[in-house]
Amino acid sequence: MNLWKNKLVVLFAALTLACFATPVKAKHGVSIPVLNYHSIGVAPGNTYVLHPDTFARQMDYLAAHHYTPLTLAEFASVLSQKMPSPAHPVLLTFDDGYANNAEVALPILQQHGFPATIYVSTGLVNTPGYLTWPQVRQLSAAGWDIASHTVTHPHLPQLSKKAQREEILAARARIEQELGKPADTFAFPYGEYNRTTMRILRGAKFRYAFTTQPGRASSDQPPLELHRIVVDSQKPFEDWVEQLSEPIPH
Ligand SMILES: [Zn+2]
Repeated sequence: MNLWKNKLVVLFAALTLACFATPVKAKHGVSIPVLNYHSIGVAPGNTYVLHPDTFARQMDYLAAHHYTPLTLAEFASVLSQKMPSPAHPVLLTFDDGYANNAEVALPILQQHGFPATIYVSTGLVNTPGYLTWPQVRQLSAAGWDIASHTVTHPHLPQLSKKAQREEILAARARIEQELGKPADTFAFPYGEYNRTTMRILRGAKFRYAFTTQPGRASSDQPPLELHRIVVDSQKPFEDWVEQLSEPIPH
């Protein structure tokens, strides 16, 4: 009888210890900061145009602080916990498809061996200021992942279901045809979407979609509503560092 009682006490103690030894950590999954860039150029006062020197300084910071920029496939593996996360993962994304992403950002990233992902609006390709298809192929050959940001960059919730489908599916089909690789992730123009948008993405089996909701992308978020950190060129460098290294939200 006494022995049995002792065993219970030991069991209880072990359970208590287990509870306290495992703090709040890892209740949920993993989170990864996803930085969202647009144009890398010189346009003082424009929030979405980041000076090349600032961009270079940010990439130097990532390298110096042992960040590991991921490919989209690595991002998917880490987020779905099929692959252990490096100590400081980050996904670098560019929206819209500006020519300077190939002409200015690519050489800076290549100095560090960093990959990136670009969300291209296919209707803007080959227009002034935007990438040409040969430049898109150049980025793809350099290890960038290319995915869809619609055809004409519309406000999706203002469109009919048919028009939304066309914007989303035609852009993806064009990229897949040009590059011969799947483009099953998406970024919402202006971060805007409605139920129809989500139904189209689910129906077409898009794997991930990025909003402009601020914060880290996390395996706790719906895969078609992942958060990103939009890089604001008007904010001080310290703010960028702070956003990047914000504590994991659990
Ligand atoms: Zn955009």
